Amino acid sequence: MLFLILFIFASCLASFIVSCSQRLVEQKSLITPYRSCCNNCSHILPWWQLIPILSFIFLQGRCFFCNHKINIYLPIAELISGTAFVSLANLDLLHDSIILLFIMSLIFLTSTDFFANIIYSIALLGLLPITFLSIPQNYFHNLIAASTIAISLLLFSNFTGALGSGDIEFLFFVCIIWGWQQTLLIIQASSLVMLFFFLYTHEKKLPLIPALSLSTLLSLFLQGC
Ligand SMILES: [Zn+2]
Repeated sequence: MLFLILFIFASCLASFIVSCSQRLVEQKSLITPYRSCCNNCSHILPWWQLIPILSFIFLQGRCFFCNHKINIYLPIAELISGTAFVSLANLDLLHDSIILLFIMSLIFLTSTDFFANIIYSIALLGLLPITFLSIPQNYFHNLIAASTIAISLLLFSNFTGALGSGDIEFLFFVCIIWGWQQTLLIIQASSLVMLFFFLYTHEKKLPLIPALSLSTLLSLFLQGC
């Protein structure tokens, strides 16, 4: 029962973060309308259309008022957040707050990149407290490795245009937290995720942060915290 409450809490919070980040990149007010509304018809949504994951299923992925398709990104973000939080939480307030901050920072970074290819670098700071829960590291070595990886990726993206500066900043932070081996694994896993997305969508320009976030979350599962 307690874990169900944690799941609902994390998925509701993810829903809120996704809505805020969408309004932010679209330069809409974060305060008005104070309730969520349909992006197409601007109809204010009643409470039963705001239940994470379930509302999307009830409504069969379409707005109740105008039948406009609801982006599947929202229920996926809610499901991943809820599942990740329940799997990583251990009912210690400090531990769980750090995990929640980590997951929500990833959701925010992913959402702004997904909706508008924008990265708010300040949100990367939300990833750092996880160092308190991770395997102790030599942060000086990590800083040197992070700088080396960042400079190499900057040179690489100058020639190919394949990476945005936000993607490189993200990897810089990941390398500071976990070191170069974990970072290279995350890059490899993200490349596989991107390949999968490419085969599915055939889009040539895809945002990388969603794939990096997913791989980072998987890496957190694997190493435990
Ligand atoms: Zn609508």
